[in-house]
Amino acid sequence: MAKILAIHAHPDDVEFLAGGTMALLADRGHELTIATFTAGDCGSKEMGPREIAAVRRKEAASAAARIGAHYVCLEFNDLAIFNDDAARRRVTEVLRKARPELVMTASPVDYHCDHEAASALVRDACFAAPAPNYATGTTAPLGQIPHLYLMDPVEGKDPEGRVVAPDFVVDIGKAFARKREMLADHASQRVWLQQHHGVDSYLDEMERWTRARGVLAGFEFGEGFRRYRGHAYPQSALLEELLGAAVAQINND
Ligand SMILES: [Zn+2]
Repeated sequence: MAKILAIHAHPDDVEFLAGGTMALLADRGHELTIATFTAGDCGSKEMGPREIAAVRRKEAASAAARIGAHYVCLEFNDLAIFNDDAARRRVTEVLRKARPELVMTASPVDYHCDHEAASALVRDACFAAPAPNYATGTTAPLGQIPHLYLMDPVEGKDPEGRVVAPDFVVDIGKAFARKREMLADHASQRVWLQQHHGVDSYLDEMERWTRARGVLAGFEFGEGFRRYRGHAYPQSALLEELLGAAVAQINND
């Protein structure tokens, strides 16, 4: 069984973009961790940062528990994730503690500065984690760089509206109900998104995006991913192998 880490900026991002895939991996018996950089301390107009963060840590832990995943918060603050020395060491330490063979993270281009910073930090922490001279704490270095996958940007588009195409789409039909339950655990965000983003219905928006990704591959519900192919990172298709027939390659030529 593989150890798998899904790590994104905020509570609810993993559920939106990879919740169904994580549920399918749980069904196959893999050991899962969901991590968020922040506890979502800016995600409220009514509660102060400490109060809303406490609510959102609980929501995220409940969502993760539905699929038997462990939840970790890195305790950065919203809109304050920067790709610097201290942050890279913190993220590397989280990788060394979770010891994943496979990591999924945010898209390098996305609408939110925290998503883009988290993506770069995770990519670089994967590279740093096996280096013994890169000090992060007491945890031992990883044996090798983990396989790295990128989730879709929100709405599958970059900040200028261009389509960001996935390499492959995962058929999450069998897991869609659980994805919806996991997202529903983030009850505080339904209110926040209505007020701030004008997203009327949190769950309905997720369903619309998940259906749109499924259409690319002829599935009712799908989630898209890209495999990171940078030099020195593992190049084999581990996630595709773990998911087998649930994966459809997308021809982007
Ligand atoms: Zn986010």
